Amino acid sequence: MAFQPSPITNLKRNVTILGAGLVGSLLAVLMRRRGYPVTIYERRTDMRQASIGAGRSINLAMSTRGWQALALAGLKTEMESLAIPMTGRFLHQPDGSTAFQPYGTHGEAIYSVSRGELNKRLMSLAESHGVRICFNQRCVRVDVSENILHFEGDHEPVTADLLFGADGAFSALRTSYSHMDRVSARQDYIEYGYKELNMDPGEGSAKWRMEKHALHIWPRGKFMLIALPNTDGSFTCTLFMPFEGEDSFEKLKDDSTVQAFFEQHFADAIPLMPDFLTQFRNNPVASLITTHISKWHHAAQSALIGDAAHAIVPFYGQGMNAGFEDCTVLSHLMDTHEEDWTSLLKAYEQKRKDNGNAVAALALMNFVEMRDKVADPHFLERKKIEKQIALRFPEQFTSIYELVSFSHTPYSTVMQCIEAQDKLLGRIMAEGDFEQACGRDAFNDQLQAWMEEYHQQVQSLDFTGQ
Ligand SMILES: Cc1cc2nc3c(=O)[nH]c(=O)nc-3n(C[C@H](O)[C@H](O)[C@H](O)COP(=O)(O)OP(=O)(O)OC[C@H]3O[C@@H](n4cnc5c(N)ncnc54)[C@H](O)[C@@H]3O)c2cc1C
Repeated sequence: MAFQPSPITNLKRNVTILGAGLVGSLLAVLMRRRGYPVTIYERRTDMRQASIGAGRSINLAMSTRGWQALALAGLKTEMESLAIPMTGRFLHQPDGSTAFQPYGTHGEAIYSVSRGELNKRLMSLAESHGVRICFNQRCVRVDVSENILHFEGDHEPVTADLLFGADGAFSALRTSYSHMDRVSARQDYIEYGYKELNMDPGEGSAKWRMEKHALHIWPRGKFMLIALPNTDGSFTCTLFMPFEGEDSFEKLKDDSTVQAFFEQHFADAIPLMPDFLTQFRNNPVASLITTHISKWHHAAQSALIGDAAHAIVPFYGQGMNAGFEDCTVLSHLMDTHEEDWTSLLKAYEQKRKDNGNAVAALALMNFVEMRDKVADPHFLERKKIEKQIALRFPEQFTSIYELVSFSHTPYSTVMQCIEAQDKLLGRIMAEGDFEQACGRDAFNDQLQAWMEEYHQQVQSLDFTGQ
């Protein structure tokens, strides 16, 4: 049965959202479903009118936290049919050999989803519920105390009742908060940039010319290429490397250096991207940013959400997932706080700010893992042991990757588990070959004791999610 939004009553405040991106559009659906009248102001033109071929736009990895929010919006089943499960990393080594590393202990997957398609469907769903989206309206500044939005051009200022800034990493609301007294705000660019390249689909039955159900990585120490599958058989590749220095974008200035670089480092990708030189020339290099801000909301009037609150680097595939989780948390808080927006927005900030900082740190850590460690034998051994421990002690141990990607454990709790897991796995690995060690009774007794110690260290943490 089609969803009927709750009727609008004058008990519900008028909601204004800045940005019809992934998070703004999802939030609009959730608010409208609860009976709030919602208007979105979006800087860009309506992407549904632009001619982007289906499946050819950039993709994103969706994991458990993202799916939970889509389920709340009633869009999970529809998006699942367009998502490609990726059950592990497919490594492309410099010598041409390949290896597959499963993500989960029980075949769990993250999912490659078209960003454009997801955004379009969220916007259409929002509109079908009665949300008004005003395109080509760039907010330049918010008068925070009066809750007045100022726009570029001749658009009259708008006084918002309840405002959410879902306007991304360079949020106008965030910038306006940052100019207030006693607000700390920081944005950190990393020295790496990224460039996207496309691998065309194959013909007929060989539509996917590499393993379809994997996230492909060419880890090369200081830089890496990754590729995620699209439903049309193509792969969207992203080259992450420093802007400057020995192996860097600044060194790849002309076709001959790019050709030589790809032949040296990504030889097996060249036949799959015959036009890579043209793409390399034409596609821009973009920068990567992490943002932190001490103030996430103002009184009962406004709040930041998604990248506007916590832009992070993309190496854990968690930016959108974390933003969607913000929406889930906000939605759950509406169950308990009803229309008391003063305490609701305060509780939202309390619940999410530490998690925003934690996921930012996790994302930076995972960059080192992806570009460097995944090809390191020591790291691979550790991953193998993690899986064995998770199978032997399922109630006590879940790996950091699985906690981030396949659970609702608060990111701040995941951060707190890292040290305890490092200690545990360090002890185990110091015993030499794990399988052989498991044949010794003394080792198994010791392992049991270490597991108990680990359990004691983490059991007081909050694993409950929202
Ligand atoms: C290379 C790369 C790969 C990524 N991969 C993943 C991944 O695999 N998984 C994952 O979970 N996340 C990933 N992310 C992160 C993800 O893209 C973001 O976290 C997500 O897009 C955030 O959504 P958002 O709606 O908060 O912000 P945005 O997507 O940035 O949307 C903001 C919206 O606000 C509009 N807007 C901006 N300023 C204004 C203004 N002043 N006035 C009005 N409107 C405005 C914009 O036009 C836009 O529509 C990746 C990011 C990058 C850069």
